Amino acid sequence: NYRSGSQIREDFLRFFEGKGHRRVHSSSLVPANDPTLLFTNAGMNQFKDVFLGAEKRDYSRAASSQKCVRAGGKHNDLENVGFTRRHHTFFEMLGNFSFGDYFKKDAIAFAWELLTSKEWFGIDPSRLYCTIFEGDEGVPRDAEAYQYWLEVGVPAERIFELGAKDNFWAMGDTGPCGPCSEIYYDLGVEASEFGKDLPFGEDEQRYVEIWNLVFMQFDRTVTASGPLLTPLPKPSIDTGMGLERIACVLQGVLSNFETDLFTPLIKRAEELTGHKVEADHEVDDRSRASLRIIADHARAATFLISDGVLPANEGRGYVLRKILRRGIRHGRLLGQEKPFMHEMVFAVRDEMGVAYPELKESAERVAKVVLAEEQQFARTLELGLKQMNEETLRSGALAFRLYETFGMPLDFMVDAARDAGIPFDMAGFEAAKEEEQARARASWKGGAQKSAAPVYRELAKTEFEGYSALRVDGARV
Ligand code: ATP
Ligand code: MG
Ligand code: MG
Ligand code: MG
Repeated sequence: NYRSGSQIREDFLRFFEGKGHRRVHSSSLVPANDPTLLFTNAGMNQFKDVFLGAEKRDYSRAASSQKCVRAGGKHNDLENVGFTRRHHTFFEMLGNFSFGDYFKKDAIAFAWELLTSKEWFGIDPSRLYCTIFEGDEGVPRDAEAYQYWLEVGVPAERIFELGAKDNFWAMGDTGPCGPCSEIYYDLGVEASEFGKDLPFGEDEQRYVEIWNLVFMQFDRTVTASGPLLTPLPKPSIDTGMGLERIACVLQGVLSNFETDLFTPLIKRAEELTGHKVEADHEVDDRSRASLRIIADHARAATFLISDGVLPANEGRGYVLRKILRRGIRHGRLLGQEKPFMHEMVFAVRDEMGVAYPELKESAERVAKVVLAEEQQFARTLELGLKQMNEETLRSGALAFRLYETFGMPLDFMVDAARDAGIPFDMAGFEAAKEEEQARARASWKGGAQKSAAPVYRELAKTEFEGYSALRVDGARV
């Protein structure tokens, strides 16, 4: 009963076409009219104005497979990649949407039918769990969703009630919001064995969230006496299911990276780095993480550049640069010091060019951009590496000079220190960095930041997160 990732994508869209949905192509990873958003991170982004009633379409039901990137900004999964089996920087979100058309009852029935019906995904219902919103801060428990799950045949003991953090969704501080319901799949006890040392619990390894159904039910306004939720005249539906996760389930593997969406890319990464990972060899776990990271980051970089992002020192381009350099660094950890990432671009095109024809047009150009970045980074490293020695690694202040002057990545220095058995002076590094930031702030004369457009505030935040992500990355790998 094997289904390829491409078949699953197609089956999802066909299923919802059969339920009267219009098939809509993915929008760009660079959000068209939303400067507050770093990258497209959910299927609903391109329909935001339709949900708000500001834009009319000639359909009230839609289904899509949306390119998403969650690296930087509100959702940042960058540091998870390679260490969980289910997070990617780039992934495809399958979604069905109702713009004031059907609501909870149908959304739940559709999802359950697609997942469990023998003609469709045929998942064993005894492996599935659902969650509903338990109620909180004046918003009632989602008794309707509970009832509809029972009606499709989910036994009460498989329905869990969670709080606002997981099961309440809002577009912003004001505007559409509502409870959501998630569907989890039990990968089995084998799955909880994975990554015991990682800061992810065993349950989180075992039960994977596959689908999130958002019920846009209220309009939130702010009044003198606090937030007010008014029922929307035409409640709407927004759902998102990670293609890589449902492929993991349907292909009977324990990790997204073992699905056919990733194995060819990992194989190509092995060829290009010349590093063959021994099967079932625990000592090679780190190498395997590096290969997963290269495969993941190659997809993200390829799609981002194809959608018009270029490596830069700030904003979207900075996140792209960080992704590329992290991929390159993991190639080096596997012993490959020559440019190789640009070759990964063609592997991504070969795997995904049918679903995303734009890749066929752009691959040559994308590969050139990646190669240029690889060459520039190699020069940076060459200059920086000459200056890097025991003394600079022992002194955080000197290490910070290298970071500032030569663009020497922090994680590189942390790794080098570990290899040389020298304790890296992280506290000194951070102190020097804070001093520098304080100096920059002082010379910028307060206020400038407050009046900056949201996009720039977002970008400033990203840069900070980028720094801490590198630190975690450096500490973990
Ligand atoms: P998680 O709790 O696992 O981080 P999430 O709750 O942040 O997921 P949602 O915002 O609800 O995810 O997105 C809808 C669906 O998209 C998820 O149920 C999951 O299948 C998928 N998804 C979310 N983030 C990622 C990611 N980084 N990589 C792959 N798939 C993802
Ligand atoms: Mg998440
Ligand atoms: Mg979640
Ligand atoms: Mg979720």
